[in-house]
Amino acid sequence: PSITRGVTVEIPKVSWDDIGGLQDLKKKLQQAVEWPLKHAAAFARLGVSPVRGVLLHGPPGCSKTTLAKAAAHAAQASFFSLSGAELYSMYVGEGEALLRNTFRRARLAAPSIIFFDEADVVAAKRGGSSSGSTTVGERLLSTLLTEMDGLEQAKVLYVPPPDLEARYEILSVHTRGMKVGTDVDMRQLAEDTELFTGAELEGLCREAGIVALREDISATVVCDRHFQTVKNSLKPALTREEID
Ligand code: ATP
Repeated sequence: PSITRGVTVEIPKVSWDDIGGLQDLKKKLQQAVEWPLKHAAAFARLGVSPVRGVLLHGPPGCSKTTLAKAAAHAAQASFFSLSGAELYSMYVGEGEALLRNTFRRARLAAPSIIFFDEADVVAAKRGGSSSGSTTVGERLLSTLLTEMDGLEQAKVLYVPPPDLEARYEILSVHTRGMKVGTDVDMRQLAEDTELFTGAELEGLCREAGIVALREDISATVVCDRHFQTVKNSLKPALTREEID
């Protein structure tokens, strides 16, 4: 972390290559997020106004957070996180204050990316009150819109569960630094993990390593049986409807 005018700034280290699959989405994010930050002068020269925000939606554990971090890394932008659920649960006024404060810090540390997790919690509470008083969600949403100068130009991007090729790439990413036995067929493993999210595939690799060590603390490779043991013990979170 570096210090910019009293603000601690963190540029994430994760890169596009650390994310398996999602080639098209990475390209769209490069254009929507990385280009305007990296080539601000070029955009200004042509009078092209960049999008202010990107809404990533899709099942949990499929790399929304990681994509936002990779975009920040690629653009060498400071990264800030906010959680809709957390803001929503705070005392009256505190959520708005944190929201404003985060935007203020982000401006000081510009270029910046603010990752707003569970934004639906805030947006979904719109128009819920019948008493005429404003609800927590409405106040948070109006603060957010003020800080963002509107969201009309936001880009909506769907982050899908990993397909076969993406699962293969995710398994490759997460075994990159591991000693994997020659009996492990990653292609086959990708085929056999149809309903797994990226997060679960990451867990599978890590756990397989732990199983190998549990079996023999002086083990030198992680073998197929270790992956199989873990795979068979996991119940994936995705449903067939979500991947079709
Ligand atoms: P949530 O909605 O639960 O916050 P998310 O969609 O933001 O989830 P991440 O937090 O980005 O998901 O991913 C969780 C973990 O899974 C990360 O540690 C990441 O390394 C791994 N992961 C998920 N998808 C991929 C992928 N496509 N390639 C590599 N790793 C992945």
